[in-house]
Amino acid sequence: MIVDSHLDIAWNALAEGRGFNGPPAQGYLISRDSLVAAGVGLVFATVFTAPRGASKLLPKNPFLYDTPREANLIGRLQVGYYASVGLRLLRTRSQLRAYQRAWRPGKLAAILLMENADPIESPAQVGEWAQLGVRIIGPAWARTRYCGGTDAPGGLTDLGRELLRTMARHEVILDISHMADRSVRESLEAWQGPVVATHGGARALNPGQRQFEDRAIAEIGRRHGIVGVSFYRGHLRSDGHAGVADLVRHIRHMADIAGDPAFVALGSDLDGGFGRDEAALSSTAGLGSLRNALQRHFSAHDVEGIMGGNWLRFLSASLPT
Ligand SMILES: [Zn+2]
Repeated sequence: MIVDSHLDIAWNALAEGRGFNGPPAQGYLISRDSLVAAGVGLVFATVFTAPRGASKLLPKNPFLYDTPREANLIGRLQVGYYASVGLRLLRTRSQLRAYQRAWRPGKLAAILLMENADPIESPAQVGEWAQLGVRIIGPAWARTRYCGGTDAPGGLTDLGRELLRTMARHEVILDISHMADRSVRESLEAWQGPVVATHGGARALNPGQRQFEDRAIAEIGRRHGIVGVSFYRGHLRSDGHAGVADLVRHIRHMADIAGDPAFVALGSDLDGGFGRDEAALSSTAGLGSLRNALQRHFSAHDVEGIMGGNWLRFLSASLPT
């Protein structure tokens, strides 16, 4: 099965009016139908929230938050959305193993990923979110109360350090995507648990703070985590004209820096603030052409890993038992 480690499904439905069941909305690529038709069996479905101040992209959106309480409510609404469309959340290693054994094309399940930790009103609340199904937390998007983020330099706050300690106690996985460089450095120093970068490009190939530094990619590889390549053109090329060849180029670079293709996978972020016009694929059926292109650079075993097997192996060792 193909695994995609970043889709803002609930945000797109609730804040943008593009529902999940049925075909994708005009100009967009992601829906249950398009994912299962492409052979996707597992997605990381996000609880994504955006603060009012840092969202030039979404100026009129009613789902922006001013306070942690509002972020909390918007986050909970998204968890409710996943239940309402029958997207099953896998919570444990044994649930993942059973799902994998029984999987056949047409079935889809999700891992719940919180992008931006502000809905966690205080670190003591991590347990409640874990209870709701959250298994991975990315502390940043823009700056949060926990750390610096995209276009918002800075390190971990005291609250951020406390968040990491509480995440470790609840066996939550750390996602460094969107964290500012100093926050990445400081959290990798403080963090002993499983670590991933669910969605992004390689900064060595496309300069910009949102892309992953080689030293972060290398450290994730050293710890046997996973780096997921994003399909957003802006993450792949500065001129924005990225296609399948650029995805392959980033994957090749990430595999070289991480030390093995086993530490690289797909985190498309498709429809997350961009549509078909800004995606490196024109439809999810393009995943087939990506697989073919990867076969010219990697062994068949490595290609199956990148398309999904690497995430499954990582999760089967990192989810709670
Ligand atoms: Zn993101």
